[in-house]
Amino acid sequence: MSDAGIRITDVGVKFPSARGTVTAVENVNQHIPASSFVSIVGPSGCGKSTLLSVIAGLQKPTSGEVNVHGRTVTGPDKNIGFVFQEDSTLPWRDVEENVRFAMQMGGVSKQDQRRRAQDAIDLVGLTGFEHAYPATLSGGMRQRVALARTLAMEPNVVLMDEPFAALDQQTRIFLGAEVRQIWSRTHQTVVFVTHDIGEAILLSQQVWVMSYRPGTIIDVIDVDLPEERDASIVSTHEFNELNNRIWTSLQAESMRGFEQQEKSA
Ligand code: ADP
Repeated sequence: MSDAGIRITDVGVKFPSARGTVTAVENVNQHIPASSFVSIVGPSGCGKSTLLSVIAGLQKPTSGEVNVHGRTVTGPDKNIGFVFQEDSTLPWRDVEENVRFAMQMGGVSKQDQRRRAQDAIDLVGLTGFEHAYPATLSGGMRQRVALARTLAMEPNVVLMDEPFAALDQQTRIFLGAEVRQIWSRTHQTVVFVTHDIGEAILLSQQVWVMSYRPGTIIDVIDVDLPEERDASIVSTHEFNELNNRIWTSLQAESMRGFEQQEKSA
């Protein structure tokens, strides 16, 4: 068995709640080869973020373990980058200072900070905006800043939790296509959580479908589309076939999730 990449073994997460224990994630066993791009889709509340937090070392699993490049994850690690859903830019710092923030915390030398920040800013298409403040940028540009901050840390693994959820559909598609292009250059191992099937197909080599409570992986779909993709792929027949396939898997789960949420409301 290869140690490279991410190995998830028997992972389960339970949370105490007023009505007893909530099993957020159960019995997840998956391997993500190094340098691959996997997306996780599933209805709201099915455990996607919880599973991602376990991989990031931000949430301790109740059972099982995650190994990244052969090492058991026991807490946050600078080799595992995380891009959050919400805007995490610091308003009092300009773009370059925002991108350098994590490196400053991580003890990277000033010279390296400058070089790595500029490389990451160029990579996410923000060249020329180094000294702009977040308030003057669009939501999409602020998410690029957050992405650059993570990439500048040069992690082996990048985890993204619905990073474009707050953006309009067009910006999402274009940013998604850019993330894909960045990945084709950096070849980090990426796990991307989304509830948008189209986004998952556009970006990934493989899509996992998660069930509603207990959250477990019920389907794994290989995305057999050309490696070189841009936003125009969403109108192809192959893309639509994959979309239908994943939607069929997800439909029953989404209904089940919706009914259970209605009941517990
Ligand atoms: P998703 O990302 O798929 O929307 P989450 O992973 O956020 O789902 O949540 C899965 C389930 O676990 C939900 O029922 C949620 O309410 C519950 N949950 C998540 N985090 C906590 C927590 N810290 N304490 C209690 N319950 C939680």
